Amino acid sequence: MNELDLSEVLYTLVKIYFILLRESEYEDRKMRINADAVIIGGGIIGVATAFYLAREKYGNIVLLEKETFLGSGSTSKAAGGIRAQFATRTNIQMSMLSEKIFANFKEETGFDALYTQCGYMFLLSEDKDIDEFKKSYQLQKSLGLPVELLKPDDIKKYAPIVRTDDIKLATFCRDDGIGDPSEFLAGYEKAARKLGVEINIETEVTGFNTREDKITGVKTNKGEIKCPLVINCTGAWTKLIGRMVGVNVRVEPVRRQCVTTGELDFINPEFPMVVDVKSGLYTHRESKGLLLGWADKNVKPSFDISIDPDYTDNILERALDRIPRLETAEIANQWAGLYETTPDHRAIIGWEKAVAGLFHITGFSGHGFMHAPAAGLVTTDILTGREPRIDISDLEPQRFAEGVVTEETNVI
Ligand SMILES: Cc1cc2nc3c(=O)[nH]c(=O)nc-3n(C[C@H](O)[C@H](O)[C@H](O)COP(=O)(O)OP(=O)(O)OC[C@H]3O[C@@H](n4cnc5c(N)ncnc54)[C@H](O)[C@@H]3O)c2cc1C
Repeated sequence: MNELDLSEVLYTLVKIYFILLRESEYEDRKMRINADAVIIGGGIIGVATAFYLAREKYGNIVLLEKETFLGSGSTSKAAGGIRAQFATRTNIQMSMLSEKIFANFKEETGFDALYTQCGYMFLLSEDKDIDEFKKSYQLQKSLGLPVELLKPDDIKKYAPIVRTDDIKLATFCRDDGIGDPSEFLAGYEKAARKLGVEINIETEVTGFNTREDKITGVKTNKGEIKCPLVINCTGAWTKLIGRMVGVNVRVEPVRRQCVTTGELDFINPEFPMVVDVKSGLYTHRESKGLLLGWADKNVKPSFDISIDPDYTDNILERALDRIPRLETAEIANQWAGLYETTPDHRAIIGWEKAVAGLFHITGFSGHGFMHAPAAGLVTTDILTGREPRIDISDLEPQRFAEGVVTEETNVI
């Protein structure tokens, strides 16, 4: 190649570089620079909230997700459980509202997603657990939940493969069940986009603009957006967002793991979600086999989501003890994700007192998929100046500083 050719090649390369640079700047400029509300986090909570706000014509809504796809945080790792059998009023009511929406999702959003109401069964073998669950059962009944108490013989009708010789009682609610978090997320996303919500992936919030402790905008890796309202839906990453404005939001990331088995020919079609309260094992039908999960309460907070083989062994040991026929089962898949855990295992929904214009919807402590519809709806009530349809005043962020906490004890 002679000198002239070389300089031409170089010139062309420089030209291509500037065209690409201009194009990427253009891409960035396509993001709104003004919004009425910016939602940080494209998991099920952020996307459901975007939909409900847009449905109420809140104005220009922009959702920002740092990863390459929506749901890439905890939402895509969730086991799909949906249940209203909790120990606190707020959680029961949030689930009852959400279950109605999951069951009528097409009417709600225009898009299909399947909610299988196979029921949730809590197996109880210890007297202290029976006392606790009977109290919750009374509360659930008083709120209108169709929950039942089952004797060991009745358990076999729903879950014949479960060993029941040490089980004294079970609670069962037919309205509970399982759904695919990705399907519901996709439905909310499509419905939100249809209503004009702008969704930007690979867009990370790196800081805030404030004036006199009031939000005026967000800074991202793709530029700034001016806005008077920021809704923090960053789940396990919430603490990092809090730090950007100097507040301590009490959400810790904690690793949780699941395993699925290969095909099993002995699972009956009505098999519900079964929770062995003593060991912490939970299991439900998944594809042609079972999903198995167990929350190791000794895991320390961190962002580590590598698979711990000891953890897997522990799940399998518990599963074999409760369902001996799993002896021949093969592991099909396993994964780990993050619970977004608060000190009282209940969500944080409300205004950040230290910074005006910042609203948190986070810290669902492992129940964010099932509570997403209710969380989006009550938040929209508050932000549009209406009385929230569920009293969620006990979920306010400052409860920890004020020492007014009621723990959710039925956590798996
Ligand atoms: C193994 C496992 C099993 C589970 N099983 C169930 C279950 O059966 N039922 C149930 O209800 N729940 C379950 N959960 C919990 C459930 O997954 C979560 O509660 C729920 O997904 C929380 O949704 P979210 O939208 O708040 O969080 P996420 O889905 O984590 O979304 C938060 C998003 O914020 C983004 N983000 C963070 N920081 C920034 C930033 N600075 N800028 C832009 N974006 C940012 C993240 O990338 C992430 O995508 C389970 C969780 C795990 C790990």
